[in-house]
Order: sequence, then C-alpha cells, then structure tokens
Amino acid sequence: MASLASCIFCRIIKGEIPSFKLFESDKTLAFLDINPLSRGHALVIPKHHGAKLADIPDDHLSEILASLWYPLQATGATDYNLLQNNGRIAHQVVDHVHFHMIPKPNEKEGLGIGWPQQQTDMEKLKALFEDLKSRM
Ligand code: AMP
Ligand code: ZN
Repeated sequence: MASLASCIFCRIIKGEIPSFKLFESDKTLAFLDINPLSRGHALVIPKHHGAKLADIPDDHLSEILASLWYPLQATGATDYNLLQNNGRIAHQVVDHVHFHMIPKPNEKEGLGIGWPQQQTDMEKLKALFEDLKSRM
C-alpha cells in the first residue's frame, strides 16, 4: 500500500498522529474532521496514498461510499453534503485524497456553496459536448 512519511493522513492511518477513528476497513479509514463545519463532519480516506482522485487505484476507491455511510448514519443526519476537493484552487489543503461527509442541520452550519450558474446556451453546450465526446 503506497504511503508517504511526510503526509499527515498517512500518519493518522499509521497511528503516529492521534485521531478519532469512526470506521476502518483494509482499504479505508473514516475519522472526525479536526475543524468541523457541523456536528459529525467526518473524513473518509483510502489507505493508499495519492494526492488526487486519479492517483488512487479503482479497487481502493470501491469501499469509499460504504465507509461514508457508517459515520453518516451514526449522526442521524437527514441533510448532508459529500465533498471531495482536488487541487489548491478547488480548496484542497491536504494532499491525500479525502471525502468529506458534512451534515447540514440548518442554514448556518455545514457546507455553504457558491453556485455561479451561467445562462443556458444550447449552441455552446452542443459544441462542448461534441468536443468532450471526441476525447473519450
Ligand atoms: P481539504 O480542504 O478538502 O483539503 O480539507 C482538509 C480537511 O482536513 C480540513 O477540513 C481539516 O480540518 C482536516 N484536517 C487537517 N488535519 C487534520 C487532522 N490532524 N485530523 C483531522 N482532520 C484534519
Ligand atoms: Zn498520505
């Protein structure tokens, strides 16, 4: 399993840094976020080190959704966001892939989202669609 000695989340996996571990499997770990946005805000990480999603092998990602569900159901949250940031400009601070499970109990707590939607432009959408499809 890939690991990086200087990585804070690899060190949490190894138990070198304390954390509140909620769930653990061979390939994943769920623990409480140290600066929560709301009660129960947890992180789920693959034990395989990689900075961005594309750096993690598929078989190490396959258990992530189930591992998010355990801490989620323990909070009793009915409204929540799942978030996974890649890259500094996309708000990634820790360079070990992690999924946030953030309960949204009310308007003030939990994740706030900016959603800068553009006007619908079918011509532009069609051109983009054709460009993307040609690269797949
Ligand atoms: P991101 O902006 O997606 O990279 O989020 C990184 C998250 O890791 C933040 O929400 C931090 O509060 C959290 N975090 C950083 N260090 C620790 C730690 N030692 N234990 C638990 N959570 C941490
Ligand atoms: Zn790591």
